[in-house]
Amino acid sequence: MNNAENFQYLLKAGTELSRHRIAETELPWRKYRTPYRIFLAEMLLVRTRTDVVADHFEKIASKYPTLEALAFADENELREVLRPLGLSKRVPYLIKAARYICDSHSGEIPTDVESLLKVPGIGTYTATAIVTFAHGQGLVPADVNILRFVSRFTGLDMGHMTKGSKELRNLLPILSESKVGLSAENLLDFTRLICKSRKPKCDVCPLSEHCSYFKKHAPGDETV
Ligand code: SF4
Repeated sequence: MNNAENFQYLLKAGTELSRHRIAETELPWRKYRTPYRIFLAEMLLVRTRTDVVADHFEKIASKYPTLEALAFADENELREVLRPLGLSKRVPYLIKAARYICDSHSGEIPTDVESLLKVPGIGTYTATAIVTFAHGQGLVPADVNILRFVSRFTGLDMGHMTKGSKELRNLLPILSESKVGLSAENLLDFTRLICKSRKPKCDVCPLSEHCSYFKKHAPGDETV
């Protein structure tokens, strides 16, 4: 596909996806949504599987129900709470980030990416995810799974294994323009449940008609 086709088909893909509800069950931080709960979830989700965080989220959120409670948590206690997720080492970063927001933003989760990038331990993806999901801004986070989907769909090379290529990242705003940005969670669910890293479910995918990956792999091919 050339650039104009990529633009057109991605726009259609985003619109098509926004018509489908992908996940059958709602993740706990989406059921009862506050900026703090989204912040907490996104901090835990870094390099951690969604289902693992989902299984433990309510227990963690009820033990530390506010940003202040997290900022002044006892390190050893928090380590024990996060041990089942394999996240004990993340304790100092979580506390540091929560304290920074308490001190520099009066305990309010910042609403813009630039301010969030100054919070210790927060990178571009997490900052974008927080403003998108906590504050309803129509962005699409440059998540590795989303970049992989765009790479498969357009046929463009993935480039860097986790950051993707610049060309791919430049295509993400198209998905926001197609309004899927209003439901970027739907896109994340799509890449978690259908366009998965291993064996994507192309047979049930609503986007297969214009997908480069699908066109290259015949049905029954083991890699599809
Ligand atoms: Fe992903 Fe397959 Fe759908 Fe293409 S057809 S977007 S590879 S699930």
